[in-house]
Amino acid sequence: MDEKQRTRGLRRYRWALVPAIILLIGYLLPEQLHIPVEDAQAHDWNHDTFWYAPWGRSGVHKGIDIFAPAGQSVRAATGGIVIYRGSFGIGGRVVVILGPRWRVHYYAHLAEFAPDAGIFVGGGDTLGTVGTSGNAAGKAPHLHYSILTLIPYPWRWDASPQGWKKMFYLDPSIRLLSIGTRAKAPTGRAG
Ligand SMILES: [Zn+2]
Repeated sequence: MDEKQRTRGLRRYRWALVPAIILLIGYLLPEQLHIPVEDAQAHDWNHDTFWYAPWGRSGVHKGIDIFAPAGQSVRAATGGIVIYRGSFGIGGRVVVILGPRWRVHYYAHLAEFAPDAGIFVGGGDTLGTVGTSGNAAGKAPHLHYSILTLIPYPWRWDASPQGWKKMFYLDPSIRLLSIGTRAKAPTGRAG
């Protein structure tokens, strides 16, 4: 291999590093979750409805429903980039945000969108209000909240209905319930 060939090889290698670095940066961004409905607490959602089946037209419930009075603010669980805001099938009025760690946060059944919401949102920013749009019509107002990971977790695949999709859907309940635990941790530390 002469000098020229070696440089060319090195250059190609460097270009391959760019997507790897971007992937890594997205993965390392800290993910600090907020409960995505203003004033909501752990008892406002059923902790066991993630992956509940049979569940309407989607077959399996790939998220949780946080019940709240209609018009209550829906908040971004994490900061990120709004990749979709509009009407989308059974979700009704939805907001889709790409957040840290290549996770997509899906907020459905909104009544209205926050009029001043931009493309970039911070964690806790108002996205709109709780409602009954989409297939929540006629039901108690709630926010349907799902977390999808773009990087699949193959070890989560199991024998449950649509079990292979568990590689891509994370249980929001576990993550939201751990907020309180994490906040309490420092006080438990000695000194
Ligand atoms: Zn739901």
